[in-house]
Amino acid sequence: MLKTLTSATALALLLAPAALAQAEAPGGETVFRVFIGDHAAPRITAFDLSAPESRWVFDTIGQAKLYAVAQGSAVAAVQSDAGTVQFLSSGIRLEDHGDHQDIEITEPAALPHRLDGPRPFHLVDHGQQIAINLDQGGYAEILDGAALAQGRLESRRFPQSVAHHGFVAPLGGFWLSSVAPEPEEGAEPAPRLGLQAFTAEGTPAGDLATCTGIHGEAFSGLYLAAGCAEGVLTARSGDDGIVFEMLPYPADLPAGNTTGTLLGATGMQVFLGNYGRDGLVVIDPEEAPHFRPIALPFRRVDFVLDPMQPARGFVLTEDGTLHRIDLLAAGLDGSAAVTQPYSMDGHWNDPRPRLAMAGAEILITDPREGLVRRIDAATLEDRGSIAVGGAPYNIAVVAASGHTH
Ligand code: ZN
Ligand code: ZN
Repeated sequence: MLKTLTSATALALLLAPAALAQAEAPGGETVFRVFIGDHAAPRITAFDLSAPESRWVFDTIGQAKLYAVAQGSAVAAVQSDAGTVQFLSSGIRLEDHGDHQDIEITEPAALPHRLDGPRPFHLVDHGQQIAINLDQGGYAEILDGAALAQGRLESRRFPQSVAHHGFVAPLGGFWLSSVAPEPEEGAEPAPRLGLQAFTAEGTPAGDLATCTGIHGEAFSGLYLAAGCAEGVLTARSGDDGIVFEMLPYPADLPAGNTTGTLLGATGMQVFLGNYGRDGLVVIDPEEAPHFRPIALPFRRVDFVLDPMQPARGFVLTEDGTLHRIDLLAAGLDGSAAVTQPYSMDGHWNDPRPRLAMAGAEILITDPREGLVRRIDAATLEDRGSIAVGGAPYNIAVVAASGHTH
């Protein structure tokens, strides 16, 4: 049974960035500011959903994956191939006034400092700390979210024993880091080993939890979860340090597949993961059944969770159909054709649509058409499109509600 979050957990989650940023404030103003990274040109285009004809354009060094970070006050543009991370101020700031929040809206702006390093990749934003893994550097950069919200870049390095494609995340006063084996001369790199707790200085603070080939990480409720060859590994804070639990893939799931991408819901303790190329899986970290599969009619292009409706998600399949996901039922409860087909044959980074939520709409980049499509989340009806030009690819939305006074 999925757990709706109550008491202390719910409070903590209501303060989580996504939930906070997308919460509706009755009588207040809601802003959706959209940031689009082009597939080919080193460029980010930004606009407000309420006035999409007004644009801001920012140059980058290379292709950028975009993340709304620091409670939506900034956007990180992670450029793996270019070896750098650039930052924008989103121009949207929230100020807590106790019984309501104020919203301050200015123009988005490029921040002057960037973070250079060998192959930055996974980014984890949790508890006012932003950890960016440098895959070829053997360390993660840990940024202070509060400083970034003020436009300052304050970072320190978290050392890893072996450089690898992995992640670092804070949990319960520790730092969890994926761990890779020592490379052997002349041999193919062996799979990553698992997850381990460390102090802020990188000293081990517990045993390695096995999670072969660890990839994909997300938080929901009290848990962090990550995908492994054997199953999904969960971690939570316990009385004597971090408690790890391996949830093995059950025999009734199609054999030979694994989970390597996870999303964590904000209002409910549940994860949505990939499982095979044409499947998804709903994961309850606490109660059995831990895994409930969802079969898709075609291979998956991208999927998102809806921060406004915790039991709801959306997935686009390669035939160009958007499906609404009911996490409680572990099934699809609506489908609509939204783009031309985008085959999943070819490289993972070929230009294909990406999804983002903007309140009651799903935004879908359509790189071949140079558009962002707007789809009604309740009816799956087309609400029109925004011509961006170029090849719109990665997308991040900063959503905020509040009073201006
Ligand atoms: Zn106020
Ligand atoms: Zn990865």
